[in-house]
Amino acid sequence: MSDNVPQFGIAEYPSAPGTDTCMSCRQPAVGSYYRVNGALACARCKEQLEAQLPKDSHAAFVRGLMFGVGGAILGLILYSVFGIVTGIEIGYISLAVGYIVGKAMRMGSRGNGGRRYQLAAVILTYAAVSMSAIPIAISQYANGKMAPPQAQVAKPRTPDPQPAKPQTNLGAALAGLAVLGLASPLLELQDPFHGMIGLVILLVGIRIAWRLTASPAIDILGPFVATNPAAPAAAP
Ligand SMILES: [Zn+2]
Repeated sequence: MSDNVPQFGIAEYPSAPGTDTCMSCRQPAVGSYYRVNGALACARCKEQLEAQLPKDSHAAFVRGLMFGVGGAILGLILYSVFGIVTGIEIGYISLAVGYIVGKAMRMGSRGNGGRRYQLAAVILTYAAVSMSAIPIAISQYANGKMAPPQAQVAKPRTPDPQPAKPQTNLGAALAGLAVLGLASPLLELQDPFHGMIGLVILLVGIRIAWRLTASPAIDILGPFVATNPAAPAAAP
């Protein structure tokens, strides 16, 4: 669908001065030219490129966010299943989670990116990786390997004067679990070696998500006056 997008990824400069050739259509630039990411472009190709650039909008951001949440859930499942099945404690899957979240957001926003996309991608990647500690801990508890995560929280000594509503208890338990999950990358620093490695891999994964959701870097300069000595004769 986007096969006709002019390619300006690699900046090539004409070898000989005076030959202003468009890096996209390879025709000599006549009259005026532009520089797109440093590469020479004729006016027609520059206009074509501008028309095909993704237009950022609220709708694009919301769609990107929805895809990002989907990617984060996928990443959480992937991370949890990998951790439970292999028992490997170092979170290599953080890299894949960052990649999935970034790619999903890019797909949802149809190529848009920028600071707000990057911030959302960072939060989603962190949330997916850290919250996967919950299913992994539950699985370990079910296998009798360790105490449930709730047991690590100091319990209040004073008994409740009256029994709280069950919904409040469930809600509080889930909220506590979520907080524990979000704090898990830091809690794992109790084991400094594994904790640090996990944190570094998580930061690399976040960086992957950050870069994948960056603004599409198109830098258009111009117009400049073309210096082709022998412009081709104008078409009739
Ligand atoms: Zn051109």
